[in-house]
Amino acid sequence: MNIKYDVENNVMQIDDVDLYPENLDRNFIGICNSCNSDVTSLSYHVHDNGMVVAGKCTACGVLYAIFYDTEWNWQGEETIVDFFNINSSNNIRFLDSIDRKKLETVFTPAETTAMYAKARGEKYVRQYLYRARKKYNDFYELFGIQINI
Ligand SMILES: [Zn+2]
Repeated sequence: MNIKYDVENNVMQIDDVDLYPENLDRNFIGICNSCNSDVTSLSYHVHDNGMVVAGKCTACGVLYAIFYDTEWNWQGEETIVDFFNINSSNNIRFLDSIDRKKLETVFTPAETTAMYAKARGEKYVRQYLYRARKKYNDFYELFGIQINI
């Protein structure tokens, strides 16, 4: 199981499926495996036939994904070590969904690189991104796809 968590937006991603939070209740939900301090919930998500709760150790800050069935019986837990940002991953998925040839029709390679870098939250050359942004309308008129990066 591949678990990622977006601490900013409280979205958990399990095997590439985005799980938005059902609620953000803060409850005591267990004891930290590494330092024995309290673990408090950050967000509750529906997952398969049950729930998964993101919890954070109040002392050492380790994050856990704790799995329950529909009766709230504990099913298991994993330490969360991978993090992501839902907004940038959506942008990347969006760009990847556009036929590369369409991008090349309108944008220079430097502009495309800048758009991808911006979508990934990486450093980009502003000048190229600005140039690309000026073409978003053209791109929309040509292909009916609105880019907003
Ligand atoms: Zn701890």
